[in-house]
Amino acid sequence: MPGIQVKKQPKKYDAVIVGSGAGGGMATYVLANAGLKVCLLEAGPMYDPKTDSNQLKNPWESPRRGASTKFRPFGDFDGAYWGWEIDGEPYTHAEGTKWEWWRSRMLGGRTNHWGRISLRFGPKDFKRKSIDGLGDDWPIGYEDVKPYYDKIDKLLGVFGTNEGLENDPDGIFLPPPKPRLHELFLKKAATSIGVPVIPSRLSILTKQINKERGQCFYCAQCGRSCKVYADFSSSSALVIPVLKTGNVDLVTNAMAREVLTNKEGLATGVSYVDKTNLQEYQVEGRTVILAASTCETARLLLNSKSQRHPNGLANSGNVVGKYLHDSTGAAVGGVLPQLFGRKRYNEDGVGGMHVYTPWWLDNKKLDFPRGYHIEYWGGMEQPAYGFGWGIEGENEKFKVNGKTKEAGGYGKSLKEDYRYFYGVTWGDDGPENDYGLSNPGNIIHEAGTVRMGNDPKTSALDKWGRAHDCKNLFCTDGSVLVSQADKNITWTILALSMRTSEYIVDEMKKQNI
Ligand SMILES: Cc1cc2nc3c(=O)[nH]c(=O)nc-3n(C[C@H](O)[C@H](O)[C@H](O)COP(=O)(O)OP(=O)(O)OC[C@H]3O[C@@H](n4cnc5c(N)ncnc54)[C@H](O)[C@@H]3O)c2cc1C
Ligand code: SF4
Repeated sequence: MPGIQVKKQPKKYDAVIVGSGAGGGMATYVLANAGLKVCLLEAGPMYDPKTDSNQLKNPWESPRRGASTKFRPFGDFDGAYWGWEIDGEPYTHAEGTKWEWWRSRMLGGRTNHWGRISLRFGPKDFKRKSIDGLGDDWPIGYEDVKPYYDKIDKLLGVFGTNEGLENDPDGIFLPPPKPRLHELFLKKAATSIGVPVIPSRLSILTKQINKERGQCFYCAQCGRSCKVYADFSSSSALVIPVLKTGNVDLVTNAMAREVLTNKEGLATGVSYVDKTNLQEYQVEGRTVILAASTCETARLLLNSKSQRHPNGLANSGNVVGKYLHDSTGAAVGGVLPQLFGRKRYNEDGVGGMHVYTPWWLDNKKLDFPRGYHIEYWGGMEQPAYGFGWGIEGENEKFKVNGKTKEAGGYGKSLKEDYRYFYGVTWGDDGPENDYGLSNPGNIIHEAGTVRMGNDPKTSALDKWGRAHDCKNLFCTDGSVLVSQADKNITWTILALSMRTSEYIVDEMKKQNI
């Protein structure tokens, strides 16, 4: 760029890591604890749940009673900076296609406000092509990842129960919380028609696991991030603790632009723009690890063109940016008439469901492959702006205190409707909104743009997450996943990131990198 002076940092690191979310936070934690010197580049600002979370604030403490903005799309108290749109970071998608791209810009990325549903992929999920002929098998199997799932269960904490299910592996679980009233009703109804309902598996500390992190006190606000660090966020459980080693230089507001390479084609560091002064800087490392989230990691690789990598880095097979996949999601509402006019009492719990349904059917008897799980939401949270809107429409469908009323109403009638229906209904989906079917991207489990595999012609990375084309370049975020499962993806991102990071430490010790 003519006229722009690029500033080179004098220090050479063992590793430059881009992104501090699930994948980048774990890589930083493992490498720095192994004594390696790490430069962690994060596009967003510093964020520490202890001081920055809005946990326990009441709706009237927000100027908009908690309503959302572009900066806080899930409401004014939510633990995410930015989301569906970011000022200065536009994106496009091909005409006629839909894609919604959620991005958080802050230390810890999306893990500050994620749902904490922490499920292992099962043995079948790594070998789906061999089972149903669709998609591709992974270059690794459950047995390769299991030791890392075990380690992160212990390191980060997850509650649940061992059920001995074939494709929903057992783990090392903390005790789960008891089901709440609506969950007991759901469980009774579901099990009566053969749908299993078991304790959910969430990375929330129902028991203390170390001195740095507290125990959950059931405020149901994990989406705001937890001031006592009782839920897992990459900021609170990985990056902030590992800063104490003195081995990490964290650079916030640093938007990586390109991976730098030398004439042999090896990665030498990263060029980034400091968003506070718009100056460009370069930082050098023996190895580069990309964990900027699935689509952004692919963008960085495609941006990193050079003589040795004219098609972008790790892209000789022309696969970077392709094979993008997300969970398919559909939300359906329901009503529990048994609870109309119910008693009020505090039924807060953890910030998420206490029970769920893992996939339970046999595909051989069905006309579709694979499966899904069911998450149950409901109950009586503290009302906030936007919550329960339209409740006055229920009074047309059901009698209120024995009387049939017209839909709508205000004042005394509306108060009566709230007292009668609140905590009893959840959502209402029908043909008018495609039965709640989500747009692609909307479930926020995007993955796969830099997938791993054995064949460099059909994959960008090898089975360790190392680029086939560049032996000191690794990816540790969702981009590496070959396929989705009927599980949320983040526990697998964390386990794979730990596996790749331990491999890097080993390779460095052997002086192979
Ligand atoms: C509301 C919500 C609920 C969710 N619930 C669940 C759930 O219950 N269970 C589950 O498994 N998953 C859930 N997820 C998904 C989960 O958050 C992601 O899978 C996970 O965070 C992905 O980790 P990552 O490391 O790939 O990316 P991220 O966590 O997004 O981290 C990427 C980081 O890189 C930074 N970055 C981006 N570009 C650059 C750049 N150019 N230079 C420097 N830094 C950069 C970003 O600022 C960010 O901090 C949820 C997500 C959302 C939004
Ligand atoms: S529910 Fe528990 S883990 Fe979640 S924010 Fe509240 S205290 Fe923290």
